Amino acid sequence: MSPLVLSLILGIIAGLANIFGGVIVYARPWSRTFLAYFIALGSGFMLATALTEMVPESIHLAPLQAPLLILAGYFIVHFFEHSWPAHFHFGEETHADEFVNSRVAFTALTGLLIHTFFDGVAIASGFFISTWLGMVIFGAVILHNIPEGFTMASIMLAAKKRRLDGLLAVSALGVSRIVGILAMAAVERQVSYGLAISGGVTLYVAASDLIPEVNKMPGLRIALVVAAGVLMVIVLRLLFATA
Ligand SMILES: [Zn+2]
Ligand SMILES: [Zn+2]
Repeated sequence: MSPLVLSLILGIIAGLANIFGGVIVYARPWSRTFLAYFIALGSGFMLATALTEMVPESIHLAPLQAPLLILAGYFIVHFFEHSWPAHFHFGEETHADEFVNSRVAFTALTGLLIHTFFDGVAIASGFFISTWLGMVIFGAVILHNIPEGFTMASIMLAAKKRRLDGLLAVSALGVSRIVGILAMAAVERQVSYGLAISGGVTLYVAASDLIPEVNKMPGLRIALVVAAGVLMVIVLRLLFATA
């Protein structure tokens, strides 16, 4: 199977996970603990993928450009998720008063759409380099897709949007990721740059979106789940990495 076809199939699965995350918001009662552990496992897995796979591989492929592109990726998400929107964070949105002006929900959606676009760039650039890199990056993406869909749908709920609008917003995340995959395929020769930028994006999502949510949960158990996510990447590398 070609790297592009594989990326597209996995991109569709990732989009379905977003929709599943969105549906849980409307299908009460859902378990908050389940979601918290998902965020914790995802944060560890993503952080390890960014720091032990994406960053070193992109620096290996583009020693001069990669460090600046990683920084650029980090700050692109920072700007679109947290500087421009008035209110955004991962997890359940309970601050309904922040959403009196519905522009706030729209900016949060745009921020997340830019983030999911780079999820797509990450998956495709990974598969263009090696099956192992593509798979581990897909693992990092799929593990935060349910909380991602959940976050988006609960923002729409807090903004008093209709359920249909909420589910459309969640589906749009999946579409944006597919666009990211196709965009990377269109400029396949720049794969090392795509990996570097999306490595910075992954670093941001792990360390600045997910870890702060993990830190709101007290106790050792949640920290152990983060560590389990890190350990999974190291074990998978020992088992499957070819280089
Ligand atoms: Zn909030
Ligand atoms: Zn994502």
